[in-house]
Parts: sequence; C-alpha cells; structure tokens
Amino acid sequence: MDREIDMKEVSDGKLYGLRDMVKADCGGCEGCSDCCRGMGTSIVLDPYDIYRLTRGLNRSFEQLLEEEKIELNLVEGIVLPNLKMAGPKEQCGFLNSEGRCEIHSFRPGMCRIFPLGRYYENGCFQYFLQVHECKKEPKTKVKVQKWIDTPNPKQNENFIIEWHYFLKALSKRLEYTEEGSFRKSLSMYLLKSFYLRPYEPERDFYEQFQERFLEAKKL
Ligand code: SF4
Ligand code: SF4
Repeated sequence: MDREIDMKEVSDGKLYGLRDMVKADCGGCEGCSDCCRGMGTSIVLDPYDIYRLTRGLNRSFEQLLEEEKIELNLVEGIVLPNLKMAGPKEQCGFLNSEGRCEIHSFRPGMCRIFPLGRYYENGCFQYFLQVHECKKEPKTKVKVQKWIDTPNPKQNENFIIEWHYFLKALSKRLEYTEEGSFRKSLSMYLLKSFYLRPYEPERDFYEQFQERFLEAKKL
C-alpha cells in the first residue's frame, strides 16, 4: 500500500491530475519490458484488477492462483494478491515470448499508470512521475487520463481512494491487536468478499463493489 518516499528524490517535484499533461509516454514500450520483470511482490491487485482479469481471461481467482499468474502476500498485515514474478528472469506470467503484455487491454491498474505512481494525501491522491523507474527515452507528453486508459476514470479514482483508505484503516486497527486469529479472519473475510467471490461479468463492477463494501463496513 504505502511506501515512505522522498518526493524530491523520486519525482520531478510535480503532482498531476487526470487532465494534466505529463512526460510519461514511452512510445508503446517498443523493445522494452523492464517493468514486467523483477518487480517482486509490488504489483498489488485491487478488486477491480481481479474483476478485469477474471472477466478478460474467463478464469476464476483460484485458477489464476493455481496457474501461478498471481500469488498472495502480506501487505501491512493484510493478505492481498499481487502479480507473480516467476522463472529465472523473474517475469510476470502475462509477458509473452515477444516481450509484450498478453493482457494489454485489461492489464492491472498499476501497470496502466507506470511510470506514474500515486501520491496519497488528505483522503485523496494525485499522480507523480517516477523519474528513475522507466529508462526509455525520449518520452513525450501525454494527458494523464489518456495514459491510464481506463473507462470512467473519475469513478475509478473514487474507487481507488475508498479501497486504499479502507485498507489503511484496517491495517491501522491491526497494529493494536495481538490476536493472530483476528488478523487471519480479517484477511480471509477480505479475500472472500472482494476477490474470491466471483463478480458478475455483465454487471457494472462499481455497483457490485459498493454492495460488498457496504456489507464490509457494517461488519
Ligand atoms: S520500463 Fe517504461 S518503456 Fe519499459 S515497459 Fe515499462 S513503461 Fe514501457
Ligand atoms: S500484466 Fe502485462 S503490463 Fe503488467 S507486469 Fe504483466 S506483462 Fe507487464
């Protein structure tokens, strides 16, 4: 979820919104797949990523785990899925032999924004350019919204904010508990409610998320 970063070190010192222009366009990543390798457990997946992946691939969450495309790891005390980097080159399971992403049209949110990152502050977030992460040059300017290329971008941002701060509140709550069984059951509940329980592919994701989110908040 959160990383402690020095924005002066990692960015161009600016924050961007959806309508801003940013020098992030690396020309279709021609000949490069650096950010699809060696990323460890850092490409954490949110419920919308899983909705897109399960719908796009016609696979269940369990199948994605079995096929080792994704794995589970602890993020600030909560078990969450991430893209699995595997093999001698530690590469994402969706990277094909030509070095291209096989699931480009429904790739996860973090892949879509790269080399941008999200900077969370005051219950909201803005984008920043991670200046050391993508070495491809020259880069050209592109509108953030176009770069991210996600339908209903504002609605998507609202979902990302809700999910981020919800997890943050839960992980804060976990800091004050010693109870292993509570930690375990909380993670199991989140996994079951937001990832394992299939989303209906023909229904709007955000509607389904809100239903589950309300249930979770009641609990
Ligand atoms: S490192 Fe940059 S150019 Fe290379 S695949 Fe990632 S975003 Fe594209
Ligand atoms: S899903 Fe696609 S873009 Fe994202 S890391 Fe894997 S191969 Fe790269």
